[in-house]
Amino acid sequence: MLDQTIEADAMRVALQNVPDLERAVSRLALDRGGPRDLAAVRASLGAARDIAIAATGDWPEKITTALLRLRGQDELRNALEAMLVEDPPHFARDGGFIADGVDADLDQARSLRDESRGVIAGLQAKYAEATGIAALKIKHNNVLGYFIETTATHASKMLSPPLSDSFAHRQTTANAVRFTTPELAELETRILSAADEAQKIEMRLYSSLKDQILDAGAALADVAEALAEIDIAVAGARLARALNWVRPMVDDSRTFTVTGGRHPVVEAALDREGARFIANDCALSDGSDGADIWLITGPNMAGKSTYLRQNALIAVLAQAGMYVPATAAHIGIVTQLFSRVGAADDLARGRSTFMVEMVETAAILNQADPRALVILDEIGRGTATYDGLSIAWATLEHLHEVNGTRALFATHYHELGALVEKLSGLRAAHVAAEEAGDEVIFLHEVREGAADRSYGVQVARLAGLPDAVIARARDVLSSLEDSEAGGPKVMVDDLPLFSAAPAPVKAAPSQTDDLLANINPDDLTPREALEVLYRLKGSAD
Ligand code: ATP
Repeated sequence: MLDQTIEADAMRVALQNVPDLERAVSRLALDRGGPRDLAAVRASLGAARDIAIAATGDWPEKITTALLRLRGQDELRNALEAMLVEDPPHFARDGGFIADGVDADLDQARSLRDESRGVIAGLQAKYAEATGIAALKIKHNNVLGYFIETTATHASKMLSPPLSDSFAHRQTTANAVRFTTPELAELETRILSAADEAQKIEMRLYSSLKDQILDAGAALADVAEALAEIDIAVAGARLARALNWVRPMVDDSRTFTVTGGRHPVVEAALDREGARFIANDCALSDGSDGADIWLITGPNMAGKSTYLRQNALIAVLAQAGMYVPATAAHIGIVTQLFSRVGAADDLARGRSTFMVEMVETAAILNQADPRALVILDEIGRGTATYDGLSIAWATLEHLHEVNGTRALFATHYHELGALVEKLSGLRAAHVAAEEAGDEVIFLHEVREGAADRSYGVQVARLAGLPDAVIARARDVLSSLEDSEAGGPKVMVDDLPLFSAAPAPVKAAPSQTDDLLANINPDDLTPREALEVLYRLKGSAD
């Protein structure tokens, strides 16, 4: 499909017109459908035909089979194409969805109905002339049917002879008087019965088309499935071609090797901004038995989550028979893909954020086997530091010793690095960043070995935390690090609160301040005191 670009493009164009065929058929089956569903079946069958025609040449077996399944149903498609108007209404009861020329009786009833409408217009002109009332109208409503209406100013004229002999009074409203005539009543009967007849015929034709569709239900489901398969193949080929994806090798081994892997969504977003995505390799298992786990550390914002997800996505795409965003990939069949990422709660079901995290972790530890692929993006974050670290530690050991699985485990608990010495299937990797003065430069490159720090404070600064908070955080961090490194144990309480906050700026003394500073109330006479008061008031203004 990648090589047959012209055919694939023609198929893609045809697929753009395919509505949800299965949904249309099931709406019809449940008697909740309408003429638009008939049109949906028509469009799907038309596209199926166009695709079958466009698909010349050799195709992979699966596509060839799908293309064969698109053939047939000519009779139904022809009937729908011949009988339905281009843009039918939602509801059958609205009528007007069967094209002209399909059914002679329908055409006759319609022209009778439409002609009669023309006759009404003629009648209105005739009555206007006969009565000398130019504003006389023939109108219709659901209560009275057709009636002749004049404004109230003409009431007395209409209600007295000779006009009252021909016009029978029906109703008087605040502004209008309404009448009928035997001629109008007869015309109304003709219009109604013609419209009724047309509707009956359309409903009959609707039912017969619906029955034909339902009789072909199984074949249509087959067409829908074949269209979906071709859709996926065409879309996959387009992505592969446009985005340089590669055909992975998928086999029965436990190998998981990706060269130059990318996250397609992040890559596309960066591309729009003119930035470049850094591709990364992953070599989780060379196929041997036992656990193979990468413990991934690195600064916040370095790209750990992106890396985890891109590898999970590559596994899914490869096993779905698609090309993958990488330069090469060898994926041993993954029987289960587990992911624990992000923070979410489920309060309505009585689960806090941490509880959700633990429930998900429990599911992984209870189910993952050596054929599984597990991505764990931070674990134990929603609880006290030591509880979290202990849970992450034990989880990692369990994944390695009991589950024996392939896993990518991202964490900010650098302490877990100690386990690399102990667990043979555990390797340390980090997403690289460089420190330049006060700044962190994210390189987004996954390298061997552990990261030394998380640079959380620098990232918080990038996010716009106030300078005072950042400076204070640096102080607290260095004190905590000193205490961990065996330096003087500085309790957090000992740190002067707000020491990092900028000192309040003292305002220069005002004129009023100067004046007040220079007076001694005991030395003032009542008159002088009054003068000072006036001067104070003047300087304050
Ligand atoms: P945290 O520890 O804070 O959760 P993280 O290490 O998981 O961060 P990501 O969320 O994966 O980091 O990535 C942060 C941002 O970095 C992404 O939104 C993306 O813009 C950019 N980024 C990630 N990976 C790459 C890459 N390989 N190449 C280029 N940019 C990347």
